[in-house]
Amino acid sequence: MSAPILIAGAGIGGLSAAIALAREGFDVKVFERASEIREVGAGLQVGPNGIRAFEKLGVAQEIREIAFRPEAIVLMDSPSGTEICRQELTQSFLDRFGHPYQVAFRADVQGVLLEAARGYSDRIEFHLGNGVRKLEQDQERVVVQLDDGSSATGASLIGADGLWSEVRSFVVGDGRPRVSGHIAYRAVLAADQVPVDILTDNVQVWVGPRHHLVCYKLRGGELFNIVAIFHSSRYLEGWDKEADLAELRSGFADACDRVQRLLDHVQAWRMWVLCDRDPVQHWTEGRVTLLGDAAHPMLPYLAQGACMAVEDSVCLAALLAETPADIASAFFAYENARFPRTSSVQLAAREMGVANHLDGEARERRNVALAARNPRDHESNAWLFETDGPRPALSGQGFFGRVR
Ligand SMILES: Cc1cc2nc3c(=O)[nH]c(=O)nc-3n(C[C@H](O)[C@H](O)[C@H](O)COP(=O)(O)OP(=O)(O)OC[C@H]3O[C@@H](n4cnc5c(N)ncnc54)[C@H](O)[C@@H]3O)c2cc1C
Repeated sequence: MSAPILIAGAGIGGLSAAIALAREGFDVKVFERASEIREVGAGLQVGPNGIRAFEKLGVAQEIREIAFRPEAIVLMDSPSGTEICRQELTQSFLDRFGHPYQVAFRADVQGVLLEAARGYSDRIEFHLGNGVRKLEQDQERVVVQLDDGSSATGASLIGADGLWSEVRSFVVGDGRPRVSGHIAYRAVLAADQVPVDILTDNVQVWVGPRHHLVCYKLRGGELFNIVAIFHSSRYLEGWDKEADLAELRSGFADACDRVQRLLDHVQAWRMWVLCDRDPVQHWTEGRVTLLGDAAHPMLPYLAQGACMAVEDSVCLAALLAETPADIASAFFAYENARFPRTSSVQLAAREMGVANHLDGEARERRNVALAARNPRDHESNAWLFETDGPRPALSGQGFFGRVR
């Protein structure tokens, strides 16, 4: 039997990679630092490209069953409370991309992936509560040192260990992630607790000076996901921490009454200091490579970080299956195949953050330009939703296109 492929991390990226590799016939050992495989209680938007990647993992139907299908993405001007523009997600979207736009509770997505991985119990072995601390490699193998002091040997290692990746420090060594100056407060409410004039079957994005808020239904409409993002001078890394309500109120001081009332309804916020990195061209070293946030962490404004991790997994497994005896070449080909796209998405997400938070005349110009858009014209999304490639030089960056 050949040596297994080791994976550090069992987030959406690590689980997807394990499934993709098992489907190609590889044996996999997954090491997860946390003692259980658990996602944060929050929502996840999955564009048609993500659904296509889930299809290649054999779980698209299961994802469809746990997801909610919003009717449109609606951009609202947060200070005035008026609609700026909308992108329809119904028939014209389906006709254009062949797959719907879906939103789901993260824990449910992770549950689907875990169940699929368990279906390959002859190939995938999980080791929980035992993270990867150090690694060494030679021409034939990789040896990792684990949290409990033991070691494991594999044919290769995939670092799917997220934003604060330790595997990355061995492969890229570019220090800590970049603190963006934006902070996210997240909450999930029972839908019947949400004020009726806010509850919607759309993904609503309220944009205002130095803040924006995204909300949508989850789980067949039972739950309502809210993400409030605003500028903050907090530079200490924070992840899934309790929130500071005074800071939130001050971040949304310019928002209209509807947004303020929604914020007031939430009892328990969790807080994230948002970080990303500049794209780097090389995230592979011999038999070790990175995947998902470990390779290309991005701001969440295109809602694509998890989708990119699933796409990475499908691409990596397919290339490894082509040259299983030459892992270093397969990893190099994977990095080359993915970099143009993932770097585009990283940079486009940053641009989207700037466009969302405009103030004064720039905000007025943005609103006028976007109001002229046709809700059924999906061309600015084609590179992201339809291709596996990068953003073409002059196309839009996301749902509502490039705004200058
Ligand atoms: C506010 C917000 C909203 C978002 N919304 C969306 C969205 O709508 N759509 C979308 O596609 N993306 C979205 N994203 C991005 C998405 O959450 C991430 O890109 C995605 O979760 C990355 O998955 P991952 O598996 O690469 O990393 P992670 O989910 O971070 O998983 C890494 C795993 O590795 C484990 N680990 C860490 N270190 C080690 C180690 N040394 N050894 C072993 N295990 C280790 C961790 O415990 C964790 O389980 C959003 C992000 C944020 C912050």
